[in-house]
Amino acid sequence: MRAWIGLAVLLLGCASEPLPAPPTEPPTPAPVVELQPIVRSFRTVVVDAGHGGEDDGALGLSGVREKDVTLATAQRIAAALRKAGLVVIETRTDDSTVPLPRRTEIADASGAGLFLSVHANSAPNTAAHGIETYSMALASDESAMRLAERENRAEEVLSEAGLSRRPDDQIVDALRHGANADWSHALAQEVHRAAIKGLQRFYGKGVIQDRHQRTAPFWVLLDTEIPAILLEVGYLTEAGEEQRIRTRAYQDKVAEAVAEGVLAFVARAEAAEQGSPALSAPSSP
Ligand SMILES: [Zn+2]
Repeated sequence: MRAWIGLAVLLLGCASEPLPAPPTEPPTPAPVVELQPIVRSFRTVVVDAGHGGEDDGALGLSGVREKDVTLATAQRIAAALRKAGLVVIETRTDDSTVPLPRRTEIADASGAGLFLSVHANSAPNTAAHGIETYSMALASDESAMRLAERENRAEEVLSEAGLSRRPDDQIVDALRHGANADWSHALAQEVHRAAIKGLQRFYGKGVIQDRHQRTAPFWVLLDTEIPAILLEVGYLTEAGEEQRIRTRAYQDKVAEAVAEGVLAFVARAEAAEQGSPALSAPSSP
């Protein structure tokens, strides 16, 4: 669609410009590059470790940095997805700075069919804890909006350092064209359900709080052309949770659950593509 719009603009542009003088010699024809459509597969997943490098993300009560937790967790998620037979592309595998637009470029260029961004939360209220899964849309509530502002701030910091562009004026426009919204919602639903079920079974319902599936205008989700979700694996500002989410055991449980949720989504999505109404009829809880 974008290519057609681009072509239309180009043609209109040509029509309103004065014609250039004819060249004296015929120009050498440019080699014809045959564009192949990008084939997207739901079985190729981009795993995005939030923050990194110059962007620490949130800071925990005892100093745990979000960017370290997200990297460790994302790497375990990537391993679990590969073990489940999926192809995984990681936006970073070390403590490097990756601007948000670069992350979505990686997703869009890779032929991946899913995008999963991993984060850890923070709150002024140090009693707040639990897991939230976001898909891209207008904020579902005020705290979701505040979270999106914090996560999007990484983009502003990097753009002020000359590393990236500012997202502001594009957010509302892109929201209006959220063709991916339903698919992203379904992906968030499967991953959130699996994460809550798996972690509560292991740690108990009193420990793992279900803070629900929500929506918010995250910049890193906005720009992708594929179903995209953002998982907040817990709060770094609650003492017990800060220590728990940095352990390998917790990260492995998150990874197992995410893999289960992604596989459930892939089954729904592939069924929907074959004409079954699976996507519009969510599977039972
Ligand atoms: Zn974050």
